[in-house]
Amino acid sequence: MKRDIDALSQKEFDVLIIGAGIYGATLAWDATLRGLSVALIDKNDFGAATSANSLKIIHGGLRYLQQLDIKRMRESIRERRIFMHIAPHLVHPLSCLMPTYGHLMKGPEVMTAGMLMNDIISFDRNNHMDKQKHLSMGKVVSRKRCLELAPGLDRTGINGGALWTDAQVYNSERLLLSFILSAAQEGAVAANYVKASSFIQKGQRIGGVQAVDSLNGDSLGIHAKVTVNTSGGWVNQILNRLDNQTQRVNLSTAMNLVVNRKLLQDTALGFNGYFTYPLENGKSYSGRHVLFMAPWRESTLIGTYHRPYAGNLDEMHVTESDIQSFLEEINKGYPNDPVQRDEVSYFYKGFLPMNGIHHKTGEVNLTKHYTIYNHQKDGWLDLLSVVGVKYTTARDVAVKTSNMIFKKLGQKAPKSTSHTRRLTGGEMDSFETLLNEAFSLYNNKLSRSSVNHLVRNFGSNYMKILDYSRENKVWMEAIEGNSEVLQAEVIHAVRQEMACKLSDVVLRRTDLGSAGHPGKEALEDCAKIMAKELGWSKNQVKKELEETESCYNVKS
Ligand SMILES: Cc1cc2nc3c(=O)[nH]c(=O)nc-3n(C[C@H](O)[C@H](O)[C@H](O)COP(=O)(O)OP(=O)(O)OC[C@H]3O[C@@H](n4cnc5c(N)ncnc54)[C@H](O)[C@@H]3O)c2cc1C
Repeated sequence: MKRDIDALSQKEFDVLIIGAGIYGATLAWDATLRGLSVALIDKNDFGAATSANSLKIIHGGLRYLQQLDIKRMRESIRERRIFMHIAPHLVHPLSCLMPTYGHLMKGPEVMTAGMLMNDIISFDRNNHMDKQKHLSMGKVVSRKRCLELAPGLDRTGINGGALWTDAQVYNSERLLLSFILSAAQEGAVAANYVKASSFIQKGQRIGGVQAVDSLNGDSLGIHAKVTVNTSGGWVNQILNRLDNQTQRVNLSTAMNLVVNRKLLQDTALGFNGYFTYPLENGKSYSGRHVLFMAPWRESTLIGTYHRPYAGNLDEMHVTESDIQSFLEEINKGYPNDPVQRDEVSYFYKGFLPMNGIHHKTGEVNLTKHYTIYNHQKDGWLDLLSVVGVKYTTARDVAVKTSNMIFKKLGQKAPKSTSHTRRLTGGEMDSFETLLNEAFSLYNNKLSRSSVNHLVRNFGSNYMKILDYSRENKVWMEAIEGNSEVLQAEVIHAVRQEMACKLSDVVLRRTDLGSAGHPGKEALEDCAKIMAKELGWSKNQVKKELEETESCYNVKS
């Protein structure tokens, strides 16, 4: 996939998608597969905003059982299975635990019934799936077993634990990128660092956007029959270019922490976090809500900390006080193995739509359902906006959005195939067979952890990375200070995956820095390789290093 800015302005596309988070990426793939000509732009790198901030859980929607929202559960269960099928190298089963208390709603009796209902509702979850993707039946385990699995829990009142299986993405940034790479292979034109600055309007018709290439400041016009605004938290900002009054979506920030050790072995945990919200009247409210802790590679992800946000979207950042407050919440719920501040290796925040704030408790009330806005109602033809609430269900929303695009084009929508078509790298019969083959083929040539990492990130394309050895054997060596990431991955990111900046490679194309600062040596080595490929001057290298460093800084 090459960054070809001219190709964006050379023709009128059927659809232009503004924003390449998971909602834009899945839409680009679904619409392209169904025969539409697609342009996709992002003002930053692909997936650098909220989509890079998730807990990486592909939810089967167990929590919707509480509201008996079976339709929504079925949607999530189906999407979980589809993700494991179309990207089997990236999405894997994850065992999850929730302690039980008393004998009412949170008790083992109700939880046993819940586990059973979940299994019945997801009766087809393993149909035609690779064995490695089979999700076992849920059950309630003893208090002793629950505490063995999650030894740090506050033990008070625990009388068992509900255990079920969900799924987790090994690398959510590469999953998102795989949708874009796959769409580009089928003819979509995608470009990062292109910012939509205004709409091209012909009366009430929206004919695309005027945009700016942020890498060199050039302006360009991108023409399309239908424009879709998938700009996540920036949805109001984009619409405000049409109507200054528009404030359709209220936003909350949501933050996760990465802890640089395994607090749990193989099982994720839902547990009570204890929070205190400052209220406008100067008082505060204390309460509890469910937090989630998930083992991920050699680290632990913990989420989610919510706060309303009305500031400048491009200046939102994590503060030291956010981290301290969240650590307090976590350690009150998991007091027997508290997380220390210096174990927090990384933190990230994204935007989620919210309905409002609870008037008594100050708690953020998150929006539960996605919305596809058809702006015809507002008098703007040929424009849709999509506001999603979950990474998990983005593909399903993309199918529905494509259907609406076809309606706007006055064409009959062909059936979507994005539920069966494997993403690039996903072509394999069995994940474990592929992994074992790779281990035996490269037994003497690469470390086991490099092979494991290559297969999990690139799937059936992993050989493409190893092929770079023909051009330069040195590229088979790992980046300085890192035992897994090969130099060839950096070359591949620049040549084939549109990595333009050091942070693109460090945070989103490779595993170098997504769990924490990779070390000065690794950053410098990576920058050196990129500088050679992209002809960076010494000053540019310095700027890239500074920009990447700033991604790990906490603001006071
Ligand atoms: C902390 C946290 C944890 C989460 N955990 C999970 C989870 O475990 N599982 C799950 O299913 N979901 C989870 N979610 C929800 C999920 O991450 C989001 O619903 C999803 O990523 C939103 O994607 P998006 O494409 O709408 O937005 P984004 O990813 O924000 O994408 C919007 C894009 O639009 C671009 N853009 C904005 N303005 C312009 C412009 N003018 N021109 C061009 N481009 C523009 C931005 O740069 C951005 O890349 C979590 C969310 C958060 C914040």
